[in-house]
Amino acid sequence: MTDRPMPELPLTGGCQCGQLRYRVTKMPMTLYCCHCTECQAQAASAFGMSLRIAADGVEIEGDFDNFTRDVGKPTAAQGVFCPKCGTRVLHRGRGEDSGSSIKAGTLDQTDWLHPVGHIWTSSAQKWLQLDGLLYPKQPDDTYEALSEAFLKQQKRR
Ligand SMILES: [Zn+2]
Ligand SMILES: [Zn+2]
Repeated sequence: MTDRPMPELPLTGGCQCGQLRYRVTKMPMTLYCCHCTECQAQAASAFGMSLRIAADGVEIEGDFDNFTRDVGKPTAAQGVFCPKCGTRVLHRGRGEDSGSSIKAGTLDQTDWLHPVGHIWTSSAQKWLQLDGLLYPKQPDDTYEALSEAFLKQQKRR
């Protein structure tokens, strides 16, 4: 399979109705799929696809609302969604993990996306065939290997 190169920055995307838009102004750190049951429920699908970006690398335009799942921590990630059509466009970390992760399916251009790995494969749906770096649960290296693999992938193109 030949991957397409990532489009020039800024990457753009938005919600399904189009009133909430975002721009990614910094080079993404990595792209992976998460198969945890929370991501399955949130995406209403088999997995979530996350494009990780530094905290100051995303600009949002338009009305949005937040949802924070109660995990008993004030630093829990905030889900940002369009109040009109309900599309979740990104998650914003708080506290030490203050980066964002774009829900990659909301990008305007998606034909270049090729996740370098999968996390929480222990709850992945059994019909899926996964490649790349595989983690049964949360990566224990703060996404270092996933970030290196993404950088390598981008250099190859
Ligand atoms: Zn919308
Ligand atoms: Zn997840």
